[in-house]
Amino acid sequence: MPGLESPADFAALPKEERLIRMRHSAAHVLAEAMVELMPETELGIGPPIDTGFYYDFRLPRPLVEDDLRWLEERMRQSIAAKHPFIMSSLTKAEAEKRWANQPFKLDLLKDLEEGNVTQCTHANFTDLCRGGHVDNTGQIPAFKLMSIAGAYWRGSEKNPQLQRVYGALFETQAELDAYEQQLEDAKRRDHRRIGREMGLFALYDEIGPGHVVWLPNGATIRRELDRWITDREIELGYKHVHTPNVAKRELYVRSGHWEHYQEAMYPVMERDGEEYVLRPMNCPSHIMVYESELHSYRELPIRIAEMADMHRWEKSGQLTGMSRVRIMTLNDAHIFCTDTEMVEREVEGVLKLMEEVYAVLGLKKYTYRLSLGDPDDTEKYVNNPAMWEQGEALLRRVLQRVGLPFTEAKGEAAFYGPKIDVEFETAAGKDETLVTVQVDFHLPAQFGLEYVGEDGERHRPIIVHRGVISTLERMVALLIEEYEGNFPLWLAPVQAVVIPIADRHVEYAHEVAAQLRSATLRVEVDARNERMNGKIRDAQLQKVPYMLVVGDREAEAKAAAVRVRGGGDLGAMPVADIVERLRGERDSKALVPGVPGQ
Ligand SMILES: [Zn+2]
Ligand SMILES: [Zn+2]
Repeated sequence: MPGLESPADFAALPKEERLIRMRHSAAHVLAEAMVELMPETELGIGPPIDTGFYYDFRLPRPLVEDDLRWLEERMRQSIAAKHPFIMSSLTKAEAEKRWANQPFKLDLLKDLEEGNVTQCTHANFTDLCRGGHVDNTGQIPAFKLMSIAGAYWRGSEKNPQLQRVYGALFETQAELDAYEQQLEDAKRRDHRRIGREMGLFALYDEIGPGHVVWLPNGATIRRELDRWITDREIELGYKHVHTPNVAKRELYVRSGHWEHYQEAMYPVMERDGEEYVLRPMNCPSHIMVYESELHSYRELPIRIAEMADMHRWEKSGQLTGMSRVRIMTLNDAHIFCTDTEMVEREVEGVLKLMEEVYAVLGLKKYTYRLSLGDPDDTEKYVNNPAMWEQGEALLRRVLQRVGLPFTEAKGEAAFYGPKIDVEFETAAGKDETLVTVQVDFHLPAQFGLEYVGEDGERHRPIIVHRGVISTLERMVALLIEEYEGNFPLWLAPVQAVVIPIADRHVEYAHEVAAQLRSATLRVEVDARNERMNGKIRDAQLQKVPYMLVVGDREAEAKAAAVRVRGGGDLGAMPVADIVERLRGERDSKALVPGVPGQ
């Protein structure tokens, strides 16, 4: 039916639109091939996505990897034949008859209005479809069928489960190759795989999805980060507190979390007429600490900090390793300020601390975003235009003064105020907000907070909410992927392993280890009955920064032969010198073992 699409214009379309059409058309060709492979195929939907397309099918048997290669080959034949895509209209009654043996298509038809029912034919295959194709199959460029996944019809667990075939599609082979390379990098760096191999963390269904268990090696990394940032904050005048994980529901009604945030909270626990919840955020607890006594302007800013657990009912489909969890520990702080001038100074201090911390951690792929409210959305955001304007202008000013490049985004603020988000690029190539700084005029009003001003009168403080190293879960997930498990010495779970060449060197190996341990270095002796090269290989696999090999000569000289992770061989060194070297490298937080002073 001509007129539904204007083929001649295809090449003139913008690249984005062309890609959408190519991807959508490829989904048709995949369905064509699938029906040929299994005539009993029941067709679901096949939309274009960011990197290609997918199609959902109900099939008489589970798909296997070999099927993908067969389908791909069959698709290439269809593409080579340059079949035109031809749209046609039909009445609802005609369509119901035509699609009578396709239950999912019949289900889709229910939502279509009379006069709006169209289908598309290419080769001898027809699909119910709204349109948006290339002219003919020959215009489908570089593609590859990537994977098979399960998917519920219309995304609901109450509906039948279908098999989804994902395809990648780009305009050129080079773009497709680059995409595959990126996937491979992401897989190599995936914190879930590395976390398992290095014994960093685990998730047990018995303990709960999204409830991370830190194994000894991961707990070591977590403890080092916690100690470091806590000590640094104390140096900067933060007061560290510890507040409970459970609080009365009423507290979050007062803070507004109950109204705006209930969906993300664990259910209420009720007993003896009292209602408790697991805290979703720490602000109200820190506000209680502030509110417990009357403060003078002279005491402000008051910086209350905590490595605090938070609990959020993330949907089970959203949970991912340690980067999306339900219980997380936030490097949190609330700074109570007298006025906007003080707020600006404090936010500036926070931004400088961030820059310092990310430099030490060797993180470079992050950007600042000023997240604004939306005056038209009073359901999501507290309705107080003057407050929003003031807060947004203030954060913009500080970012400019500190000289950090940033973008702005409407409708990304917290419900009670604007914020600066720090977005980090993950191994999967996505930008994720890990850290925020927020200016809050709202909660101080909700809680009726006060301080006594220079004039002897009561005034309302302003709160700055801030994180710096995010939740320990997300930061460690990010660091695992950033370092690919090759942690700098100060964070490495095991910093050195002593490798005796033969059984008779085991005793001396323990002596060497004891010397390192007395400098609080984390060291192990590999006394297994294995060949030396095998032990070195295992230590490399475990990404241990230093391997200290000891034999007759070393025992006699009170030395060890030093190998650095990644292949460097430093030769034999006296044990006392090794201790000095490792201690220096640990204390300077050098990023790469064997390369001091960066
Ligand atoms: Zn179509
Ligand atoms: Zn807060």
